[in-house]
Amino acid sequence: MAPRLVCYDCGRTEEFPAKRCQCGEPLWFETDPSGFDWPDPSVPTLWRFVDLLPTDPPSGVASIAGGTPLLRTENLDGYTGCRLWLKSELGNVTGSFKDRGSAVALAWAANRRDWVGTVSHGNMALSMAAHAAASDVGCLVLVPEDIPPVRLENMALFGPLVVRVAGEYGQLYYDSLDIGRDLDVEFVNSDTPLRVAGQKTVAFEIMETIEADAIVLPTSSGGHASAIWKALRELSAAGLIDTFPALHLVQAAACDPIAEAYRDGRDEVRGVVPGETIAYSIANPDPPSGNRALAAVRDTGGSVRSVDDEAIREAREALAARAGMNVEPASAAALAGAKDLAADGELQATDEVVVIATGCGFKEGYAGTVEPQRLHRSDLRERLPALLR
Ligand SMILES: *Cc1c(COP(=O)(O)O)cnc(C)c1O
Ligand SMILES: [Zn+2]
Repeated sequence: MAPRLVCYDCGRTEEFPAKRCQCGEPLWFETDPSGFDWPDPSVPTLWRFVDLLPTDPPSGVASIAGGTPLLRTENLDGYTGCRLWLKSELGNVTGSFKDRGSAVALAWAANRRDWVGTVSHGNMALSMAAHAAASDVGCLVLVPEDIPPVRLENMALFGPLVVRVAGEYGQLYYDSLDIGRDLDVEFVNSDTPLRVAGQKTVAFEIMETIEADAIVLPTSSGGHASAIWKALRELSAAGLIDTFPALHLVQAAACDPIAEAYRDGRDEVRGVVPGETIAYSIANPDPPSGNRALAAVRDTGGSVRSVDDEAIREAREALAARAGMNVEPASAAALAGAKDLAADGELQATDEVVVIATGCGFKEGYAGTVEPQRLHRSDLRERLPALLR
């Protein structure tokens, strides 16, 4: 009963655990959504969609992924210029949507593999390490040489085997798939089939709640965008939605290979030489699902654009000041993108727009400073009224 994989592009099928099609494009799981209906809402996690997932529900931390809130944030309508909703992925156990993919991956790998692996220097590594630890599976994490120490510290708590790899980091995605096959390590990279299966559930949750006109998300590898597209196709095949919300992808201007291909009207994404950006979680210069993400955008009537670091910083502050949420810069990029889309008339004031808050901002601190007022206890009653004015 090995589940089958299929190529979105050429339609070729493969047996799991293949990851890429012979044509070079990424594979995803073949599913049969006919007869699928909105599931019992009393299961508060992504596991209520188990009928469209490649594995049974697990126990432990992987059992609580997903089921995140969809917040209507009126306070940001004026800022963005549309009816704004935030799908907050901050409440997942390691603070990002990556936990959806890791949960499904480890649900599959527990009792089947001694090791899982990933190529990541950020949220995905943290998420895989946590879920592997809870599943009693070893976790191999390949990180770049120049990884900031704070990210190693966050990860270290979960005890993964971390290997700093010298040499071209972009190629490591492909190297890891070869090495994983030979050494029986199940690599769960940014867009591999198990991850995409888990991450598609975010779109099920959005569409079961509202009829979104548009979904705006920050994009790097294209794995998340692919997953959302897959979910929409499944919901459409099941007859549960009539039209697709437009998928709008947002990249950081310093590293925007998918946006560049979109601007040039190409179907194929070419690697770029990356510049520096504060949005480190969306800085993949050679996205393995770039072409698939572009196909998703074209199929749903969406777009790809990029925003610079200043706009990202401003959006992050607006989110904190107006919605009370601390997101990481990558997530703020999506809000900045939504604002530009509305300004350009691609989103209307009456559109229901969902921005995905992909990751929480507490992990690496925030470079702002608070200058506290200083008072003695005995002066509080007398001097606070002036400050509260
Ligand atoms: C991984 C990540 C992204 C990018 O997702 P892709 O699937 O690589 O396109 C965006 N935001 C955050 C917080 C992430 O961790
Ligand atoms: Zn193919």
